[in-house]
Amino acid sequence: MRKFVGAHVSTAGGVFNAPLNAKKIGARAFALFTKNQRQWKAKPLTEEAVKKFKENLKSVGIKPEHVLPHDSYLINLGSPDKEKREKSLNAFIDEVERCRQLGLRLLNFHPGSSLGKVSEKECLKIVADSINEAISKTEEVILVIENTAGQGSWIGYRFEHLAEIIDMVEDKSRIGVCLDTCHMFAAGYDIRTKEAYEKTMKEFDEVVGFKYLKGMHLNDAKSELGSRVDRHHSIGKGNIGLDAFKFIMNDPRTDNIPLILETIDPSIWKEEIELLYSLIEE
Ligand SMILES: [Zn+2]
Ligand SMILES: [Zn+2]
Repeated sequence: MRKFVGAHVSTAGGVFNAPLNAKKIGARAFALFTKNQRQWKAKPLTEEAVKKFKENLKSVGIKPEHVLPHDSYLINLGSPDKEKREKSLNAFIDEVERCRQLGLRLLNFHPGSSLGKVSEKECLKIVADSINEAISKTEEVILVIENTAGQGSWIGYRFEHLAEIIDMVEDKSRIGVCLDTCHMFAAGYDIRTKEAYEKTMKEFDEVVGFKYLKGMHLNDAKSELGSRVDRHHSIGKGNIGLDAFKFIMNDPRTDNIPLILETIDPSIWKEEIELLYSLIEE
């Protein structure tokens, strides 16, 4: 088994329910929020919650390296506002620590938004500074930057942005990348035909490097190619189409990393996971 497909599952009732929710949809990987993603403050994880999480993870047979936690939507590590950036950084450091407590190895985050107040270049520097500070104050967890659709003033929609951030990170053993297919497509990277897919992936390898790829978000797109609009769709139902996902499922470069659905209809995640596995050619 080389492909580990799952979805961003619910933690209603406690983080320890996430592995069970993953199991219900036949997932071999999953994403989760380790706290309420719409609130700044969170109660620390209790020892009991951590213990239950680890037990449940073991019981469903999912490895910690196939869990890709996502940080809060409130966090902006690239904020040009000093106070807001400080608040974001503190919340982010807390999230890194929560992941470590849960025995997890990765934390996925969106790089940052310039809010139109600084240049993209300056924003990339603020993000890199934030990452360096977070790394210096935490241990073990790899910080996984997600490519964005480039909506609003979000940076990270060009592979060059990801490369530039990585370049400024001091401890490269603590940094990785998550590629979101919807965001990639909305940012102008075509993956709809074999030729386009190979061209985009070659570009990713040359600019960033596959050694940094720690996970993927598998989403079809309601938005158009290059629209810089972030609208996810169910697999095979959007503008990307099923072929792209067939290329991914048969690409050895995506072996052994979490492949996570963030598609719009959780009620069909089980079918989507089955569909994705059915695309693997022997
Ligand atoms: Zn995503
Ligand atoms: Zn998105």
